[in-house]
Amino acid sequence: MSLKILELKIEGMTCPSCSAAVERCLDELEGIQEKIVDHHTDSGKIAFDESIISEEEIIAKINEGHYKVAGFENIENALVIPECPECAKSGQLVPNTVFQSNLKTESLRKINLGTKNFICFNPDCKIAYYNEEIKIDLSELKRELWFKKGSKRKIICYCNNIDSEQIKEAILNHQLTTWEEITSHYRSKVLEKCEIINPTGYCCRANFKKEIDKFTNQ
Ligand SMILES: [Zn+2]
Repeated sequence: MSLKILELKIEGMTCPSCSAAVERCLDELEGIQEKIVDHHTDSGKIAFDESIISEEEIIAKINEGHYKVAGFENIENALVIPECPECAKSGQLVPNTVFQSNLKTESLRKINLGTKNFICFNPDCKIAYYNEEIKIDLSELKRELWFKKGSKRKIICYCNNIDSEQIKEAILNHQLTTWEEITSHYRSKVLEKCEIINPTGYCCRANFKKEIDKFTNQ
């Protein structure tokens, strides 16, 4: 799989919470791999998988909010994602911020934080992270990867340690239907540190919404 980079000029952002709002709206989309939105420079840099989403869809999503895309530039095939050395499926770029809290100490030493690292999403494969030099398998992780076969819990929100069963319970027995309602039902102090705690490094909200939809449409 190869990623494309989209560089946007975004008008209307005046403070850090504006850029955070744009980033949050991008979190609702599938296929976004990395994003940097900066209100100082009115810019957004977004790496996306064009087999999942188009630049038009990304721009339309941003334009739904208070901020408007004033111009864009597309950089072709900025990063080629190497195949998993075990299963040969292409994985996804994983932010290096996840390793500290997700790897056992011995394995943390194997990771080179100066280079790009990738995650294997194949449920049947025992590799969690890899790059051209290293392989980290599931036994080296402190938390389970929910999408791998054999995981005991399907954890959806890692920050608040909430799994698919708990989401179902909150919907069916307490009629809760949003991320905010469900996380605060289980946790008195709700955390949002996906880039550190979630082993995929991505915000859980899109997955969380999918689970909610699954159980509310029953
Ligand atoms: Zn694999």
